[in-house]
Amino acid sequence: AQERYASIRDKPAETLCGTRVSLHMNAGLMADLPSLEGSGAEGVGLFRTELQFLVRNKVPRRAELASLYSTVLDAAGGRRVAFRTLDIGSDKVLPYMKRQEEPNPALGWRAIRVGLDKAGVMRMQLQALIRAAAGRPLTVMFPFVAQFEEFTAAREHLLRELDREERLGRPLPSKVEIGAMLETPSLAFAPRQFFELADFISIGGNDLKQFFFAADRENELVRRRYDTLNVSFLTFLEQIVGRCNETDTPVSFCGEDAGRPLEALCFAAIGLRNLSMRPASIGPVKHLFRKTNLNEAREVIDKARVSGAQSVRPAITEWMNSLDW
Ligand code: PEP
Ligand code: MG
Repeated sequence: AQERYASIRDKPAETLCGTRVSLHMNAGLMADLPSLEGSGAEGVGLFRTELQFLVRNKVPRRAELASLYSTVLDAAGGRRVAFRTLDIGSDKVLPYMKRQEEPNPALGWRAIRVGLDKAGVMRMQLQALIRAAAGRPLTVMFPFVAQFEEFTAAREHLLRELDREERLGRPLPSKVEIGAMLETPSLAFAPRQFFELADFISIGGNDLKQFFFAADRENELVRRRYDTLNVSFLTFLEQIVGRCNETDTPVSFCGEDAGRPLEALCFAAIGLRNLSMRPASIGPVKHLFRKTNLNEAREVIDKARVSGAQSVRPAITEWMNSLDW
């Protein structure tokens, strides 16, 4: 199977109906970077920056982070890397950061909420990113944005740091893209201005699904209870894609489900054109895309919908089994 995937490594993820889907990889460690070459990923759709904070016993220094991010950009060799700012709290706890006991950490003080409340740490990280990118494009995304104002506030921090670096006479990135992760249902209903302001949106399906179904992603009692291919969830994702399309805001999906071929196929069938996944999933997902017709997948999904099915999985599985792939 590995050889089969190697043979399509440099080929596009293009379906039989001629639709191209961009496949990117998720990363978070320097050790992940060599996979960029091997997997055929077009770039890094999600670089989780919290690992560098989690493996230490104190907040890393700016220079240390800048050098690390710069090495990541070097390794990417001009391919886009979407750096996600520190996403801690909930399942990702920094041992050295004092925090209160929270009754429900998944709904608590996490990600951009911490970033905005402890702006010193976020600004330090933004400075490190700006310095690492000097002369090269920089892509930053903020995690767990629940309302428009959180995005504008975080974006302002980044713009201020860019100004500051410029005043200090330091080289700036050649271009800066500022995006938001859509991981809470509320953001899907944000005003149009949010979608216009965001340079791109990345759907964090792991969290989005947990909040959509109110089912803790860490809780074995409930985490497998709701199917990602549930008709209501797919319809919700489709509406998000629709809102992004209205404002021409690029949208991608970077949760774990993007790396499951069947899920990836359904995401493409409802309009997603950019998926980010673990490197090992790129081959299998691309292989399936190259063997399928999205219009047919779409018909299967639509039929399942009108039939009142809870999930499109049985129908799409049956259709796939009839294909030769
Ligand atoms: C997600 O929530 O889907 C996501 C990509 O972020 P994480 O899994 O790191 O929370
Ligand atoms: Mg998340």
